[in-house]
Amino acid sequence: MSHVFPRHTKAKLPVASHGDGAYIVDSDGKRYLDACGGAAVSCLGHSDAAVTDAVRSQMDSIAFAHTGFFTSPPAEALAEKLIALAPGDLDRVYFVSGGSEAVEASLKLARQYFVEIGQPQRKHIIARWQSYHGNTLGALAAGGNRWRRAQFEPLLVDMAHIDPCFVYRGQEEGESEFDYGQRVANQLETEIQRLGVDSVAAFVAEPVVGATLGAVPAVEGYFKRIREICDQYGVLLILDEVMCGMGRTGTLFACDHDGVAPDILCIAKGLGAGYQPIGAMLCTGAIYDAIEQGSGLFQHGHTYIGHPAACAAGGAVLTRLIDDGLVERVTPLGEALHTRLEARFGQHPHVGDIRGRGLFRGLELVKDRETKTPFDPGHKLHAKVKQAAMNEGLMCYPMGGTLDGQRGDHILLAPPFILEDAQLDEITDKLDRAVTTALAQAGA
Ligand code: PLP
Repeated sequence: MSHVFPRHTKAKLPVASHGDGAYIVDSDGKRYLDACGGAAVSCLGHSDAAVTDAVRSQMDSIAFAHTGFFTSPPAEALAEKLIALAPGDLDRVYFVSGGSEAVEASLKLARQYFVEIGQPQRKHIIARWQSYHGNTLGALAAGGNRWRRAQFEPLLVDMAHIDPCFVYRGQEEGESEFDYGQRVANQLETEIQRLGVDSVAAFVAEPVVGATLGAVPAVEGYFKRIREICDQYGVLLILDEVMCGMGRTGTLFACDHDGVAPDILCIAKGLGAGYQPIGAMLCTGAIYDAIEQGSGLFQHGHTYIGHPAACAAGGAVLTRLIDDGLVERVTPLGEALHTRLEARFGQHPHVGDIRGRGLFRGLELVKDRETKTPFDPGHKLHAKVKQAAMNEGLMCYPMGGTLDGQRGDHILLAPPFILEDAQLDEITDKLDRAVTTALAQAGA
């Protein structure tokens, strides 16, 4: 009997034996094409020698040096590289071990910043429904995934939420995409006014929504309007690129596409590409200076922040992404994937939407294409697709997002940037068979 406390207690999982490029091989020798990077993590696939060598070599020097006592060459080097590439005035990097920690740190930094500059009344954080910012209690409260929140209500601290920018379901008849984006962005202004114009610390959003809806980019102009509103009311803009960052959407940072720079940026997943657990929070020099000139201490910290082996992995990943040109492969590969998905599922009676950017793509399964009615959540269709895909030797990330409190079925694809053309066909073929099997099992 296993003594591991698994994620899903009722599932019997295969045993991962080793990695081979875009594939994971189990202990029976079965190969799984990783078309979702686990959860948009493995952007380099599973056998990148440059990254493992960098980690091994750091481990040979020193594995761990507590950041209360030391900095380390890999942390310094990675921070320098990230800041050289980061948008806007981002100037400092706070390393953590994952996405939820990056988001927690960002929420606390925003709150502390206003204390340091003498505006302690700015405490509110505004976020969006149908977003996901992590599973720790603060990040969960910011998140707008009603299903993930439900068992923990009332949350320790709750936050205000506005609608997401979700054109497939939100756009009204006769409204242009641009006008729709402006309308939902303006909800931020309304919410700031409702809470009190000098009481809001920050607004947090994912530039491309991942783990709730499966790759939903905002429409053009949306984030520019969000940035304007934040500037007008002195509210910090936190962008959560834990899933959509690090080249996943075709630009190193997803917000580069929107032409908007945040005050605080959260990254994780693709930063370590799965080779080490690492995340980071980047903030502007102005925020850092306020802390430095104020109390001098960010009231936060975890034991493993700035772990040298994790930072060594991050540095090697960045070299692969930028110097070896892997990010440049993302847009053409993503478009080729989208074309194949359109060809296969564009007219499918139960695929309502095919969306995304770069190698971050989502399919929404619906009972009725015309009315966009979701399937009965009791079918757990997304989970059935995942299992059928695993049987086919394909990993795709299923999710039951929330539609006005009701769950819908979404499939996220986030394959590695090393993908070959033939593997694009393998993804569509296997996914097609998995969707057909799952729909049959659900009686559709
Ligand atoms: N933020 C976003 C946008 C995410 O997608 C996730 C995880 O899926 C997180 C935060 C939490 O990251 P982690 O699971 O590494 O704590």
